[in-house]
Amino acid sequence: MSDQMYKKVALIGLGLIASSICHAAKRGGLVGEITGYARSQETRDIGREIGLCTVCDTGAEAVADADLVILCVPIGAMGPVMAEIAPHLKAGSTVTDVGSVKRAVFDAVLPHLPTGVHFVGCHPMAGTEHSGPRSGFAELFDSRWTLVVPGADADAQTVAQVEAFWQGLGAMTTQMDIDHHDLICAVVSHAPHLIAYTMVGVADDLGRVTDTEVVNYSAAGFRDFTRIAASDPTMWRDVFLTNKDATLEILGRFTEELFALQRAIRTGDGDHLHDYFTRTRAIRRGIIEAGQDTAAPNFGRGPSKS
Ligand code: NAP
Repeated sequence: MSDQMYKKVALIGLGLIASSICHAAKRGGLVGEITGYARSQETRDIGREIGLCTVCDTGAEAVADADLVILCVPIGAMGPVMAEIAPHLKAGSTVTDVGSVKRAVFDAVLPHLPTGVHFVGCHPMAGTEHSGPRSGFAELFDSRWTLVVPGADADAQTVAQVEAFWQGLGAMTTQMDIDHHDLICAVVSHAPHLIAYTMVGVADDLGRVTDTEVVNYSAAGFRDFTRIAASDPTMWRDVFLTNKDATLEILGRFTEELFALQRAIRTGDGDHLHDYFTRTRAIRRGIIEAGQDTAAPNFGRGPSKS
């Protein structure tokens, strides 16, 4: 059991990430009290019903006297939420976030940050396609990386405490520069999501293959795209609107490679295809060796029913 790190933590937004933080913080005995606030009455009611934390009816109430405030809302809501809670933040407290894009969050949050309140950006590289307060679980961050993005003028001791908090939640942590964060995420998360959305959209539009055929035979590869493409539409709209440059750069490179593979298929260049797939297979091995996925066939799932 870890030592208590903050007396009071406030969660703004009560979705997948906030509820997982809540469960993991309780598991680790990391905090004295957790308060929370979400925009809709429905979500606040669910939070109360499942006993997630002390759910408040306003953001102001939730952050009052909090030592750590964690913004767990979609990127587009970070600025408005920060404007709302800023006058109620405790002097000397720390605000952090979990947003998937960092430059846009710094731009939205910093103008509202009161003097004497710290801000440290964070991004847990863990998630599922589920949303809402019921979807969280204590193990979400275990052995996954959380990228800690301090920004230019961050106080070293505050950053160290936030980093230790994430480690207490089960995560591995590393510090990173704002723009480098956004480029890495464009490669490992944002572009892959867009490709998955596209692939699922293509299958949906293809008249010559029936919906039943797509569903029944999806274990052949398509199923893994559908899981990613089921992710929250609001969150992902905001990610693409705010990590525009890095995502477009990666998609440009992706398109070039796709054309090269297309040409190899058309011209029967088997060597090109084989060499390419050999290189990509090694990346998969690297992920398994780093403990970031299971080597079990079919990603550890049970046999397909199809
Ligand atoms: P989620 O399950 O959809 O929850 C979002 C929460 O934000 C909901 O409780 C929602 O309240 C609340 N909210 C939205 N706008 C608000 C506003 N203006 N004021 C107060 N509350 C507001 O989302 P999530 O998956 O936890 O994602 C939250 C953040 O984590 C996002 O910034 C995302 O980029 C980041 N993130 C997500 C993942 C992932 O895989 N899901 C991974 C890493 C980081 P209502 O329910 O009342 O609308």
